[in-house]
Amino acid sequence: MPKSLNLDKFLFGGDYSPEQWSPDVWDKDIELMQDLGVNAVTLNVHSWIFDEPSDGVFDFSWLDGIIAKLKKSGIGIIMATGTTAPPSWLYNKDNDILKTDIKGRKFKYGVRERFCPTSVTYIDAVKRLVSKLAEHYAGEKSILLWHLNNELSGFCYCEHCEKEFRKWLEAKYKNIDTLNRRWCTAMWGRCYTSFDDIVAPTELNELYVDVDGAGFDLDSLPTEAIEYARFMSDCCENLFAIESECIRRYIPDAICTNNYQFRDRFNYHTIARALDVISLDIYPNRNDPPYEACFNLDIARNFKEQDNPFIIMEMTPNHASWAPVCHTKRPGEVARIAINNIAHGANSALYFQIRRTPAGFEKFHGAMISHSGHLDTRIAKELQQLSSDLRKLPLDMQKYGLDARVAIIHDWDEKLGVEIPCSVQKNIDYTREVKHYYRYFNEKNINIDVISLDQDFSRYSVIIAPVVCMLKKEYAESFDSFVSNGGCLVLTYYSGYTDECDYMYLGGQPGPLRQIAGLWVEELDALSAKEKNTIRFTDGYVCESGWMCDVLRLESAKPLAYYGSDYYKDSPCLTENYYGKGKCIYIGTKPDDGGVDHILDMVVKEAELVPVMETPKSVSAVKRGPYLFLINFSEDETIVKLPNTMHDILENNDTCSVSLKANGYAILK
Ligand SMILES: [Zn+2]
Repeated sequence: MPKSLNLDKFLFGGDYSPEQWSPDVWDKDIELMQDLGVNAVTLNVHSWIFDEPSDGVFDFSWLDGIIAKLKKSGIGIIMATGTTAPPSWLYNKDNDILKTDIKGRKFKYGVRERFCPTSVTYIDAVKRLVSKLAEHYAGEKSILLWHLNNELSGFCYCEHCEKEFRKWLEAKYKNIDTLNRRWCTAMWGRCYTSFDDIVAPTELNELYVDVDGAGFDLDSLPTEAIEYARFMSDCCENLFAIESECIRRYIPDAICTNNYQFRDRFNYHTIARALDVISLDIYPNRNDPPYEACFNLDIARNFKEQDNPFIIMEMTPNHASWAPVCHTKRPGEVARIAINNIAHGANSALYFQIRRTPAGFEKFHGAMISHSGHLDTRIAKELQQLSSDLRKLPLDMQKYGLDARVAIIHDWDEKLGVEIPCSVQKNIDYTREVKHYYRYFNEKNINIDVISLDQDFSRYSVIIAPVVCMLKKEYAESFDSFVSNGGCLVLTYYSGYTDECDYMYLGGQPGPLRQIAGLWVEELDALSAKEKNTIRFTDGYVCESGWMCDVLRLESAKPLAYYGSDYYKDSPCLTENYYGKGKCIYIGTKPDDGGVDHILDMVVKEAELVPVMETPKSVSAVKRGPYLFLINFSEDETIVKLPNTMHDILENNDTCSVSLKANGYAILK
């Protein structure tokens, strides 16, 4: 059973870096934190050098000092292990703790996160630091949870990782012939005679590397790159497990987390096995539609147990310093982001950071306390209002999820299978494909879970599974039972092509989903951004489509729409197939937003899924347990009529309508 974080409040506060300031500033800051309503502070994220100024010499006196002051003020601690930023003396001791990038270049000492995850020197030093920290704070009751390492970033391709990769492959495949067969290394004669032949897939031995350094776009042996990404995720899971074991040796009931940011091609779902609770950093872009941020929240709620509340570890109360253009948050925007997180299952509003850093990369990053050093600022006043609102929230809200009847699949391993191998569209972005269908539910105010392929399907009546290109047979069996037992499954183009080793299913796509879909795909056409086709529905509706176009051969499936042009004009592109007690809708080409709405309107109506509430377009309605959240994503004041008289929790009155100011919100029961 995963441990859960039982809180007696919604956490409000954020990262604090006292090491950047003299202790006399700490006292003033704590007064300001109290005025803001801060009840939780994250310490020690980048402080290894202060905890262990030289090899084996530990000094936690500075942490003792700030913890004592915070505790006296009733502020809880989120204790970071600090392992994201190894000190220079450790690099000097063993240069091999540095990462090697995908171009084969070894980094030099500098920015955080550049440690190699398999370095024995690094792991030994982590064990020693985290054990000392846990031993020192074993009796410290003000520590609410332990924040392992920090945001994951980038793979390492060093020689040591390469050796560990060979061992990892040998443990998985047992003998090299099996690997050769399953990877089809006979293509281009790249057969291995031993596991020792295998090299980490870098630009030095592969064709072309994508620009973010996270993987390949044109890899001659994509299975190897997919396996390397899996290996790297396992290395990170191992690191987190090591850190939590060191903590639990001294504090058996410690609760451990890591702040996810969904960068690179890590499998955040499997890494979550090493964590007790999920935390998320969330930095919505000002011009993004609301569903972009909600998507990540609906993922975070489903990482361990499905529909399980989580923690927001970081937001910015103003600028995000890395943005190309750093907008200030508009009036009300800071609180609206925080309340939207809580509506989707978060139990905190924590920020990076409390006091704005005086210099360096983040000196223009937003903070609760600005460089002015006081709270007479627009942002501070908005934060004070937010903390006051959080204190009004009923505590029982913390146990509720969203109880969705529909789920959409976004599987982190699938992301590798869709994006890494050479395909008919070279810049395919798996997450973007999934969001193309997720948007509908978010905009229609229908609560939805975002889940992985290995999770429980039986709790849903509808599952949307876009582009499940790489599909283990056991997941196809899960879909089979889901539909056989009465569920409605929505599949799309580019599904059921390969097994988990990127080896094509023979006998016609969508491979193991062919019977459920009641059809097979004879050809898969790809269109450029400028090229379009149309979808002509049997009910007369017409919309645009493009990107990928399946030429379908129907077996038991019945057509619901046809292509409007090209050599496959008048051939079916949307079908339904009754299978067992349920049915499968197959979307053979990518419809525009109107087309997605038209298809999913039919699905929702038939499954009798009902929106939380009908609202004006700019207002989102989310139901978390018995609590209704109405959130205004526009700058215009909007009045929303309620279906019946409800209790307004923040205003403490009964009402049958609410007036939402710009970026405003109401929470009702
Ligand atoms: Zn390495």
